[in-house]
Amino acid sequence: MKLLAVIDMQNDFIDGALGTAEAVQIVGRVAEKISSIRESGAEVVFTRDTHGEDYLSTSEGKKLPVEHCVRGTYGWEITDKLEVRDSKIIDKPTFGSYELAEYAASIEKLEEVILVGLCTDICVISNAMLLKARLPEVRITVDSGCCAGVTPQSHENALEAMKMCQIDVE
Ligand SMILES: [Zn+2]
Repeated sequence: MKLLAVIDMQNDFIDGALGTAEAVQIVGRVAEKISSIRESGAEVVFTRDTHGEDYLSTSEGKKLPVEHCVRGTYGWEITDKLEVRDSKIIDKPTFGSYELAEYAASIEKLEEVILVGLCTDICVISNAMLLKARLPEVRITVDSGCCAGVTPQSHENALEAMKMCQIDVE
């Protein structure tokens, strides 16, 4: 069994408060990846970065004072260019999600978790490392063409860091 984890493909990270040109560019490829993986019989799970109205007073908000992904807002929603269908959605209050790692661990005969989404250098890398820690015998793969970072340079840095930690970067 394979699991595709689609990380934080939300409007605010694509063309909203924290959007980038690189993020806009990957949307089509992520949509294709989702449909091909579903055709192969694998499962898809989505995460959503999720903050409250108090964002600016949180630890993350003090370091990154740009309101984003406030629950219930348009920016928080997963882009409608991706088909969520009946896939599970995990809301996460910070970068890495224990809930995602536990969900992956609950899947019987899991062979591989493939990560795509945003941002390579914050939430993709955080979740890849968490999954690697929770599931050391499961292959953890990142599809670099379906990820984008805060900057192209930090995207590349994150891919290098993940490779060093035995995450397969394709
Ligand atoms: Zn956030």
